[in-house]
Amino acid sequence: MKETRLETFLYCNDCKQEQDHVISYLNKRISEIECQVCQRRLSMQIDLSHELYDELFTRIRTKPARMTEEYRRHVSQFLLTLPARVASKPYRVYREWKEIRGFFHKYRARKG
Ligand SMILES: [Zn+2]
Repeated sequence: MKETRLETFLYCNDCKQEQDHVISYLNKRISEIECQVCQRRLSMQIDLSHELYDELFTRIRTKPARMTEEYRRHVSQFLLTLPARVASKPYRVYREWKEIRGFFHKYRARKG
């Protein structure tokens, strides 16, 4: 998962004029828009499990064909063996896991 920030000019309802805004994206979805002058913030509801599924699915789809075929034939078994395969890149996985956990914390906290 990736969080991206983009600075742009947008009309702010509170400032009643165009101001600097920062748009945050989680993957390709807008998660937040914030006015840099009055800090008015618009948060979007993001379904994290959907994002994760999308991402996992895209990754599997972009893997070599062998893996995709294997995936089609033994879906459950594939999912069971997936962590072991992914663990061949321990550091990256650990970093990603920490990042995902952070996103869960951030976006869950928002609902309450
Ligand atoms: Zn504003």
